[in-house]
Amino acid sequence: MDDCIFCKIIDGQIPSTKVYEDDRALAFLDINPQAPTHIVVIPKAHMRNILECAAREDDLLGYLMGLVAQLAKDQGLADKGFRVITNCGEHGAQSVEHFHIHLLGGAQLNGKMG
Ligand code: AMP
Repeated sequence: MDDCIFCKIIDGQIPSTKVYEDDRALAFLDINPQAPTHIVVIPKAHMRNILECAAREDDLLGYLMGLVAQLAKDQGLADKGFRVITNCGEHGAQSVEHFHIHLLGGAQLNGKMG
């Protein structure tokens, strides 16, 4: 989508620090990290949020979650643990309307979710 920041990252119009890429997904470092390791995992196809991803007839949502778990292992987060978040819509405080999953770890995170 023309005015989507994450589509521009996929296209290379906006630089990012890529952690992983394949034909369906991209993972890159969050520009404003909330933990020592903060990776954003996105589908290459544009969709607004988890609802649109779950409504697809393919296995993309499960694929992305599997990728998040693999990246957590690759990043050395599996032993101590980590957090996986996807914000959706206004009450979820989603700021970029291209579905994304946050992977956070590398330190003790606080117990608050909201
Ligand atoms: P959310 O608030 O869940 O929509 O998350 C959007 C995330 O995208 C935030 O954590 C931002 O820091 C991150 N973000 C926005 N622009 C960029 C960018 N150009 N490169 C990397 N991360 C970004």
